[in-house]
Amino acid sequence: VQLKTTTSDIELEKETNRRLTVALYQGQKTSGFGFICHALGCIAAWFSTNDPIYLALLVFISLVFAIRMSEFGRFNKAYEAFNGLNEQNPAKHWEHRFLIAVSLMAMWIGLLSSYSAVYHTYDAATMIAIGVSFGTLISIVARNSGSRILIDVFMWAGSLPLGIAVTGVGIARGDTALVLTGLIFIPFVLSTRSMARTVREMFSSSVSSGLLYESMAGAFEAAIRIQPNGMIMFDENDRISVINPRALSLLSIDTVEEVRGISFRELLDLFYEKKNFDFAAFAPIRDQLKQFYTEANEFLLIEFPDETHLEFSLGNAAGGEGHIQFGKVVTLQDVTEREKASQKVQMLANYDGLSNIPSRRYWNEQVLQAADALTADESIAISVFDIDRFKLINDTMGHGTGDAAIRLVANKLQEIKDPRAIYGRYGGDEFVLAFCGLKKGDDPSELFDGVFNHINSTYVIGGQKLDITVSGGVYIHKEGDFSLTDAISKADDALRKVKQNPVKAWSQFTRDMELEHSRNVIMKAAIKDAIAGGEFKVVYQPMFSPDGSMFDCCEALARWEHPELGTISPGEFIKIAEDIGAIHAVTQAILLQACTDCKTWPADTAVSVNLSTLDLAHPEVLSMVKSCLTVTGLDPNRLHIEVTETVLPMEFDRIAKTINALRNLGIKIALDDFGTGYSSLSYLNQLKIDKVKIDQSFVRNVHLDPQARKLFNAIVSLSAEMEFEIVVEGVETSEQLDVVRESGDVDRVQGYIFSRPETSSRIIERLNDNSPTPTPMGKGKFVKLDQFRKNRR
Ligand code: C2E
Ligand code: CA
Ligand code: CA
Repeated sequence: VQLKTTTSDIELEKETNRRLTVALYQGQKTSGFGFICHALGCIAAWFSTNDPIYLALLVFISLVFAIRMSEFGRFNKAYEAFNGLNEQNPAKHWEHRFLIAVSLMAMWIGLLSSYSAVYHTYDAATMIAIGVSFGTLISIVARNSGSRILIDVFMWAGSLPLGIAVTGVGIARGDTALVLTGLIFIPFVLSTRSMARTVREMFSSSVSSGLLYESMAGAFEAAIRIQPNGMIMFDENDRISVINPRALSLLSIDTVEEVRGISFRELLDLFYEKKNFDFAAFAPIRDQLKQFYTEANEFLLIEFPDETHLEFSLGNAAGGEGHIQFGKVVTLQDVTEREKASQKVQMLANYDGLSNIPSRRYWNEQVLQAADALTADESIAISVFDIDRFKLINDTMGHGTGDAAIRLVANKLQEIKDPRAIYGRYGGDEFVLAFCGLKKGDDPSELFDGVFNHINSTYVIGGQKLDITVSGGVYIHKEGDFSLTDAISKADDALRKVKQNPVKAWSQFTRDMELEHSRNVIMKAAIKDAIAGGEFKVVYQPMFSPDGSMFDCCEALARWEHPELGTISPGEFIKIAEDIGAIHAVTQAILLQACTDCKTWPADTAVSVNLSTLDLAHPEVLSMVKSCLTVTGLDPNRLHIEVTETVLPMEFDRIAKTINALRNLGIKIALDDFGTGYSSLSYLNQLKIDKVKIDQSFVRNVHLDPQARKLFNAIVSLSAEMEFEIVVEGVETSEQLDVVRESGDVDRVQGYIFSRPETSSRIIERLNDNSPTPTPMGKGKFVKLDQFRKNRR
């Protein structure tokens, strides 16, 4: 038996004993027949012998019978009153009482048979006695096997006296035949006894195994009934033989009768009818389930049209031992809650919380999948786009408006009906859109024009009208292996182009951008090693007094001497270093070089180093600057730091803190590219800055355009008003220089007119050359200032 039941062995033995005891008291009718035989035996012996003893024995056995009958009656009563045999009505008690009654009967048999053998040896009475004795013995074996002691009592009290009597009488009379007859009793008694025992054991084991089977069946039934999962057992002919209530309720079936003996297919049909499912929706599910059953798959998760999720699992019970042969067993579990929860988790992981469209990761996943499924003649178009002037919207109108703008753009994306479109939010105000599986005749330009025109429009946010436009870069992959990273970075390149020259909402990555792109790829791969390899050099551009007579500070400008690409300008590589998270290391290398070089200059000359936007937000920027000063031993007063004003709106408080901390070290802070930002004045007011560097775009046309000149003068006087030191950048011509000088408030001029960026040793040469003035066009020759003026004339 493989099934373990919870019934303990002790319990089982007790129950076996109870049943055996009940069996003892079940032979009431047989006892009646037995009594008739016994009584007739006495009467016959009396007739044969005329011995009144037999009448006495008749009375005896009648009394015994009466006692037994009353015992039967008492047992029945007690059995009913106590509801069977149990603690209050123990089996042992009744076994003992039965034993006493039967012992009396055994005694009677002993008396009858031994008396007859001794006193009526050769009379029919003896035959009768022996017959009765044997008959009773056999009936005991057959029936009263319920008690082990009972058999022994019967043997010894009933049969032994007869055996002894016959043998004794035989010896006394010298009758060998009689002796032998007497001795026959010994093997007879013994074999009968062992037979009785065997029968008893058989009986008892059949009772106990029946009991075990019953308890197992009960436990099994209960287990199936209370199972939280539905369970359907099919027989070897694939007909339902067992189904539990849970399965019925999961399949919306009311009664077992409806499904008894039907097949799995019929069950599905019934389920479909009961649920009233849409035929078209259910047909594929039916097929799946049929296949699951016939192919004996292990698991199948199905979402039904009513959104319940059932998990089917299938096992095979065939080949097991037992009376009923089982075939397949199907269990069903309602996993609706679990699936809904996991769908929600999936949703949270895959969709962006703000815009409700796919997140970066999920978008990547989908596009890669779609790219895998492309056939040879299909192409894929990837675009990256962002919201124009998003920072301005965010800063001037608040983050709420910024968030709303992102949501509105996302909503427009959700309105795209094209099944080939896969869109997502890539982070910040950056979105991605792919069209997958484009065929020869498809026109990507049309597709993207459609989308961008749809997005670019006037929105109402918080009751305010706002024009939102996006700019995008598009890359179309036509052949070869598709790399998403490559596609994105090409689309990014195209986006950068469209931002520089915004004639259209989007531009496509073209063949001629390929060169620049592969250059970017090379730079990205090489930039980290370039720091360690010392490929970054620093050149210095002096900031002259407007008359060109002196300079006391040089701007450090980084150069990357790449072994193959040649000299790369910072305009190119700073952005890349920022993109790949290497800017901090680049800045550190340049700052260290600048401080080292400055230390070799005369003590009244300072160096001015550019920090990138990301540097200022870096948590360790302060400690990096400090350690560069410590390592080089440069006086902090000789270090100036340039920050661009476009950085200010982001994390203003944190950046203001950093700037203050740098100033507290004695470092001077310059605001670079002054005038090109959009929120300069409000921030300028709150920040402690030493100087502003007016961007070269203000100087470009000052000598040609009165309007430009007015603007230049306005920005200079504004800066003077705020008592900043004023540096004008990008002065190239003497006409421009004239304008700068005329304003009267400019402290320093940095431009090709006086000097291009130079190596550190050239700077030292210049400083050592007393009161030199460079040629107006910065050709490297030094002229006196008055000579410079003459040249102008
Ligand atoms: P910037 O800070 O505005 O630096 C001035 C840029 O204008 C320099 O270009 C300089 O060579 C150029 N320039 C100077 N005088 C004239 C002139 O008369 N006419 C014209 N057309 N240009 C002039 P450069 O060295 O290519 O640097 C470009 C930008 O790269 C810099 O602009 C600065 O923002 C950034 N940069 C340079 N070095 C570093 C650095 O070490 N770290 C960081 N984070 N950025 C740097
Ligand atoms: Ca600068
Ligand atoms: Ca500048």
